[in-house]
Amino acid sequence: MDRTSLEQLLRQGLSLAEIAERFGLHESTVGYWVGKHGLEAVHRERSAARGGLGRRQLEALVEANMTIAQIAEAVERSKATVRYWLTRYGLSTRGGVGRRPAEQVQAAKRAGLATAEMLCPRHGTTEFGLNARGYYRCKRCRSEAVARRRRKMKSILVQEAGGRCCICGYDRNMRALHFHHLEPELKRHSINAKGVAVALEKLRAEARKCVLLCSNCHAEVEDRMVSIPAGAQARSPG
Ligand SMILES: [Zn+2]
Ligand SMILES: [Zn+2]
Repeated sequence: MDRTSLEQLLRQGLSLAEIAERFGLHESTVGYWVGKHGLEAVHRERSAARGGLGRRQLEALVEANMTIAQIAEAVERSKATVRYWLTRYGLSTRGGVGRRPAEQVQAAKRAGLATAEMLCPRHGTTEFGLNARGYYRCKRCRSEAVARRRRKMKSILVQEAGGRCCICGYDRNMRALHFHHLEPELKRHSINAKGVAVALEKLRAEARKCVLLCSNCHAEVEDRMVSIPAGAQARSPG
């Protein structure tokens, strides 16, 4: 750790624990560098004992319409420390600077946070993750979108495969319809698996080698209790 940045952070009133948190280091490592550079942690023992600011406490103060300066005074910490923890929790005070979501995002980026709590219009305050393109995205929105896409792909493939069990005609719940491979040795992508993110065209090619079976008939076919009707195998392509 270089002396200049360390000195700067200490001057902002950050504790060793807070500096360590920012760099993903252990507190004692920061302590080592502070000593090595002949610097001194401000209120060293006091800050270390206090650790981070609590979310509930900050929320209550923000709720009371206090400014950063007022909160800093109330919790007896520096403004930089208050600002750091507000960003961490995705909170923002109502007056003054740093209120808009765009500024929240900038602050999170400056602090080097891979995940931060932000406001999602659908899910409220929740965890956002920094994606590869450098945007923070709501994690819950993201996993819902993945599930939606997967359901849509399956519904296309199910319709193309006739939309019903080729033995009993069951068609009420798509989740109970499985793709059964006619020649398992040619199996390349599993259509039934939940975790696959294979392109539709590849799955479509795979679906052509399958017949559609409901869960019950699938079990009976696998146990050789029934066989697949000959007509079911000669599906028209497409
Ligand atoms: Zn969301
Ligand atoms: Zn069936």
